[in-house]
Amino acid sequence: MGILDKFKDLNAAYDDIKSAGADPFSVRFDEMLSSTEAVVGGKKTILFGTNNYLGLTFDQHSVEQAVTALRENGTGTTGSRIANGSYGWHQRLETELAEFFGRRHAMTFTTGYQANLGIISTLAGRDDHLVIDADSHACIYDACKLTSAQVTRFKHNDFNDLRKRLSRLEDKGGNIIVVTEGIYSMLGDKAPLKEIAAVTKEFGGYLVVDEAHSMGVLGANGRGLAEEQGVEDQVDFIVGTFSKSLGAVGGFCVSNVDDFDLLRVACRPYMFTASLPCSVVASVVTSLEKVKNGQFLREKLMNNAQRLYDGLRNAGFDVGPDVSPVVAIQLTSPDLAVAFWNALLEEGLYVNLALPPATPMGQALLRSSVSAVHSQKQIDNAIALFTKVGREFGAITPERIASAS
Ligand code: PMP
Repeated sequence: MGILDKFKDLNAAYDDIKSAGADPFSVRFDEMLSSTEAVVGGKKTILFGTNNYLGLTFDQHSVEQAVTALRENGTGTTGSRIANGSYGWHQRLETELAEFFGRRHAMTFTTGYQANLGIISTLAGRDDHLVIDADSHACIYDACKLTSAQVTRFKHNDFNDLRKRLSRLEDKGGNIIVVTEGIYSMLGDKAPLKEIAAVTKEFGGYLVVDEAHSMGVLGANGRGLAEEQGVEDQVDFIVGTFSKSLGAVGGFCVSNVDDFDLLRVACRPYMFTASLPCSVVASVVTSLEKVKNGQFLREKLMNNAQRLYDGLRNAGFDVGPDVSPVVAIQLTSPDLAVAFWNALLEEGLYVNLALPPATPMGQALLRSSVSAVHSQKQIDNAIALFTKVGREFGAITPERIASAS
């Protein structure tokens, strides 16, 4: 038996998807024209699948700082912080992140994935209880695989179910660690964080919030959903990424918990991997300034998100429950979603295809992420293309349009 035979079914499903047109899992941007446009397959394409919420990937200051840091520090760090040393840039970023979030401690990671993997798996020891939202991102699930703690899931965004689950753990001893996200990446819905925080504290638990999609996006100062809902003091650990609103790569955790720095010598996804190159860190430090002063960008982002959300809903598509920069439409089958995705790409619109089992409730989704730097024209174009293709495929019907308006 071949070593990859276990993936026979996956292979067949992947072949099916590829036979419908372009390979959605290896789209190549031949040339980046800006943070919202690229050349794909020889065609100018509008990008609505980038997570580039504030459009900072081409921010002139961030690029310049990155280039200077690259020249001064070289291309890479060639090792981990604990074994091979930190650079001034790492420490500067940690100081600035802690200050931004009003916390005493900050720790950076090489990716957002590793930040969740490391923080969650290290906090949860053998006798502890990890209680996660059922729709958690893969990195939170992978953290569960790395820990020997008992893992419980609660129904997505259902704080009454959370309360029920926590009450069953009351007499079991050990720490309770509840994990939720700010904005959920597939449907763009927000956690009821105020209620989740209250329930967690009712049971004396620690609360970890992954603000990957909400940092820079929500809250008057861009600190995320915890800021927006006024519960920052009840969140013990905020985890996030530099790969979305900050336009780079990397991850972080901030906290006020005593002895936080112990994690640096206990958290394996921090200890046993190379640290971020200074060029990346320098661009993040610069972009963080833009986030801090990003009220105007956030306002534009939310107006853009509302425009796309309303446009798609009024055209008769099923959109998610909350208006946020993640706007997903639900289609009736994976085959339709694949064909629809291909047709959009051919028309010059790139969005994300999300298929079961990686989606909530096994939905077939086309997911768009809106940016503050999308123009109204680009958004209206996107809505027009979705509508055109939706009509061609019979994915929207007059009844649906009537019920949407
Ligand atoms: N958390 C969430 C909710 C995410 O959606 C992602 C990535 N999409 C991550 C963490 C991982 O972040 P990164 O891609 O920066 O590793």
